[in-house]
Amino acid sequence: MSDCIFCEIIAGLSPANFIYQDGFCVVFMDIHPVNPGHALVVPRQHAVLLPELDTATVGHLLKIAQQVDNALRHSGLRSEGVNLFLADGRSAGQDVMHVHLHVIPRFDGDGHHLRFSPSYHTPASTSELGQNAEMIRKQMK
Ligand code: AMP
Ligand code: ZN
Repeated sequence: MSDCIFCEIIAGLSPANFIYQDGFCVVFMDIHPVNPGHALVVPRQHAVLLPELDTATVGHLLKIAQQVDNALRHSGLRSEGVNLFLADGRSAGQDVMHVHLHVIPRFDGDGHHLRFSPSYHTPASTSELGQNAEMIRKQMK
């Protein structure tokens, strides 16, 4: 994938500040950190969306994110909480079309907020929740 910045970083063709590397994934610093220490866990395999990855790799990404989370909390950087965030698709806010899991250190008053849609503030009806659950349940594999 010559037009993928994360593949270029993994191949050593673009610079990055690496925290960790193994046979399945790499971890490097986000160039636009939400807070100092913001890191990205990135599979070596180029895949745009999470469902394209094999389940072992997906599990591995979370395992490494757990280690980064723990390292952040002991690093001396401010990390009183941690957000794991994955934008799966452009409509979900994905800008770099190579799967990546954000590990974002958080602290009280850091000014970072998730904005909810207006519909979030109205609880859904039991029947709607039931119908939606059924639609998704049928597709679980
Ligand atoms: P997303 O919106 O979830 O696709 O996030 C993409 C993230 O990749 C953003 O937070 C960018 O700051 C980060 N990013 C883009 N290019 C680079 C790069 N060359 N090195 C490090 N981080 C990058
Ligand atoms: Zn890629």
